[in-house]
Parts: sequence; C-alpha cells; structure tokens
Amino acid sequence: MRVELIWTDAINPKGVTEILDAPDELSEQDIEKWGINLLKEFNILEIERYREKARTRTFVSCRSLGTNNKGHNWTKKNLVTCSNPRWGLYDIYQCTKCGIWGKRYGLDSGIRRDYKYKAKAYKDCDTALEFIEKKGR
Ligand SMILES: [Zn+2]
Repeated sequence: MRVELIWTDAINPKGVTEILDAPDELSEQDIEKWGINLLKEFNILEIERYREKARTRTFVSCRSLGTNNKGHNWTKKNLVTCSNPRWGLYDIYQCTKCGIWGKRYGLDSGIRRDYKYKAKAYKDCDTALEFIEKKGR
C-alpha cells in the first residue's frame, strides 16, 4: 500500500511529506508503528554516520493512501541491515506478488529495483508480472 509519512527535523520544522510503499498486510494501527520504526531506523543510521552533526527526524504522522494494485508489495528479507564498502548500509527487499528484488540504501527511504530489473516493464507490479510471464523466469 501507499502511505504518507510526515516528519520534521532541525531544518524542516514545518514538516516533510513522503509517499512510500509499505507492506499491504499492515493494519490501520500498524501503519503508524511502521512509520515510527522507519524513522527510528533512520535516526540510528544517521547518528552512527554523522555523530554530532546528525539530523534526526521526528515523527508527525503516517496514514494509508490505499492499496496500490500497480505497486510492488515489498517485504524486507534481511533481519540485520547489510553493509558493503561500496554501497554502505542497505536492506534487501522482495516483492511478494511478482518476486523481483530490490534494495533500500542507508538513508534512502525508497526501494530501488535491482539492476536485473531495471527495464521499464518492472516499474509497476502488474506490468512486471506480465513481462515475467512472457519472458519466463
Ligand atoms: Zn511486484
């Protein structure tokens, strides 16, 4: 599902609105927890990285914008955040519907499709499913 997450930090006291993909199985109450956790993870990484210069984010609100049938339903596949000298910290995600893989890098809020799934057809889940069907896995 699509969610709207609003947070503030030292240089954005009025708040920043982000539209993100969250797992479809989240209930209304879990959406808020999901947003709070996302910012908690962000703050931990931010403090690790920038120490006293860290710009931590404060949760304002998080609400569902409804299920997006076209969108991928990303679920996190790693329990502990991965680290790589080239990419830094990242999490691995897989779509439960079409099966493609992606990563969320450190302080990035969006999930990026892996290089193998760079083609435009993979952008939305419905077209990805079609494409995979045609081409074979
Ligand atoms: Zn998908």
